[in-house]
This record gives sequence, C-alpha cells and structure tokens, in this order.
Amino acid sequence: EWVNFVDFYDRIIDRFEMAKEQNVTFKRILPKHGIFVEMDEDKMTQVLYNVISNALKYSPEGGQVTFTIQEKNETIIVSVSDQGMGIPKESIGKIFDRFYRVDKARTRKMGGTGLGLAIAKEIVSAHGGNIWASSKEGKGTTISFSLPYESAEEDEWS
Ligand code: ATP
Ligand code: MG
Repeated sequence: EWVNFVDFYDRIIDRFEMAKEQNVTFKRILPKHGIFVEMDEDKMTQVLYNVISNALKYSPEGGQVTFTIQEKNETIIVSVSDQGMGIPKESIGKIFDRFYRVDKARTRKMGGTGLGLAIAKEIVSAHGGNIWASSKEGKGTTISFSLPYESAEEDEWS
C-alpha cells in the first residue's frame, strides 16, 4: 500500500524516543512535505526497528542519534546515525551477512544474533532499494537505505 514515509518514520522515532531508557538525544532532519512510498508497512517497521535498535545499542552515554530523509531523483535515502564505537573498515562489508557480528568479545554483552541487518537488507531489496553503512571507528556509524518513490509532480492533465 501507499504510505507517507515521512509520517511513518516520525511515528516510529516517537516510539523509540518514548521507550528509551538511555541518556541519548534524538535529532530529526525530515522533509516538511509528505513522500509516498509503496511498501509493506510491517516489513518496513522491522527494518527501522533493527537499524534504530542497533544505533541505540551502540550509542554511548550522552550520545546523539540523528534521523534523516533525503530526496534524490525518485529515490529517498533514509539514514540513522549514531556516535558509537563504529565499525572497523574490514568488517563493514560483512555486517549485512547472516549471523555476522563484529568482534564477538566486544559485543557479546550487548546480546543479539547477528540477524537484524541481514533481515533489513532482504526487506529493503524486496522493495527495490539498497542498504549500506558508513562508519568511523570511535566516531560513529550511519546506516542508510534507499527506496524508490513516486514523485507527485506529474499530475498534468494533458
Ligand atoms: P540482532 O540484530 O540479531 O539482535 P546484532 O545487532 O548483533 O543482532 P545486526 O543488527 O545484524 O546484529 O548487526 C551486525 C553487527 O554489526 C553487530 O553485531 C555489530 O557488531 C555491528 N553493528 C551494527 N550496527 C552497528 C552500529 N550502529 N554501531 C556499531 N556496530 C554496529
Ligand atoms: Mg541488530
């Protein structure tokens, strides 16, 4: 079905913001207008839950998590950035693999199975998008994904 992605994202962020127990601040950089995406809302909820849970799990005390949506010709790019420990260069290509977890010792205490991002990748691909990570060790991580959308401009009555 068609969903206004901006409202949808905003509502999911609200839920995390209300539930969070850590000292982490949220920053939203979202368009003021609606952007309509044809998607499975439950599946896309799962994608955002996985990505946002990671951002919180790996955020330091007092950190900031930034949520953005950018529009780029018929595609939106949705990002979640944290100021956590980051991901080493040699691991960044593997975090979307099933059961892969960076440095088991480092993350064991944080729990998880290493499936979250693999599932997210599958769902984003099924929606015609891509998902990727950029990260600097000790500085933070940004997970971004793209989704095609219908720009509402071309309602010419020709
Ligand atoms: P699950 O999501 O199944 O509970 P998980 O969070 O360990 O477990 P993924 O979400 O697939 O698994 O992430 C894979 C690995 O990528 C993580 O174990 C972690 O090492 C690394 N990772 C993912 N997101 C971040 C992040 N925001 N900051 C630092 N490392 C991350
Ligand atoms: Mg996870």
